[in-house]
Amino acid sequence: MRAHAMIFLGAPGAGKGTQAREVAKHFGIPQISTGDILRDAVKRQTPQGLVAKAKMESGGLVPDEVVCGIVEGRVGQPDCQRGFILDGFPRTLAQAEFVNQMLQAKGRGRPQVLDIEVDEDLLLKRLTGRRTCSLCGEIYNVHFNPPKVEGVCDKDGGKLLQRADDNEATIRQRLDAYHNQTSPLIEYYRRQGVLHDINGNAEPEVIAKGLLEFLSQA
Ligand SMILES: [Zn+2]
Repeated sequence: MRAHAMIFLGAPGAGKGTQAREVAKHFGIPQISTGDILRDAVKRQTPQGLVAKAKMESGGLVPDEVVCGIVEGRVGQPDCQRGFILDGFPRTLAQAEFVNQMLQAKGRGRPQVLDIEVDEDLLLKRLTGRRTCSLCGEIYNVHFNPPKVEGVCDKDGGKLLQRADDNEATIRQRLDAYHNQTSPLIEYYRRQGVLHDINGNAEPEVIAKGLLEFLSQA
């Protein structure tokens, strides 16, 4: 594998974070989650972190140039030299163009974009079936990983709860919002010939195996 920048795309429930983590571990490169580095910048009270904090506290969105600046700073760290994975970024066309320019300025090629695709029915089952133990936080799924006794944690007998926003109507809204936001990005990367469709319908281990084989040859 060449020293690459990789971008993972995938709807909520597609397993994007899990796959990104496997790939990062396998190649020994960092997985950069925008949420994490944003929180870190806020905690360290960097100039960009302070702007982000003020925005978040007033309930607004963190401006693009702030998020982009924080990503650029993180990607400039020595551990990113051999490649890195962006997880949760870019989300907009403007951010995608920023990433391309940033990579070009650093003498890197275009990113490799891995789009983890999962059928909508399966996504709905994964998300609506999710239950969390009220005591230990263990996560179950009534369709794929049910507890031995319905509604009860196997480990400690804690009551299993469904998050209020894991209902079908809210999830459909989240999926629609994701598709609306992401489809221009997908088209942008497809036109550049850097988009790779990954079938995300299988078990996570199977997807990871295929993904690593593909990347090793890429
Ligand atoms: Zn439990």
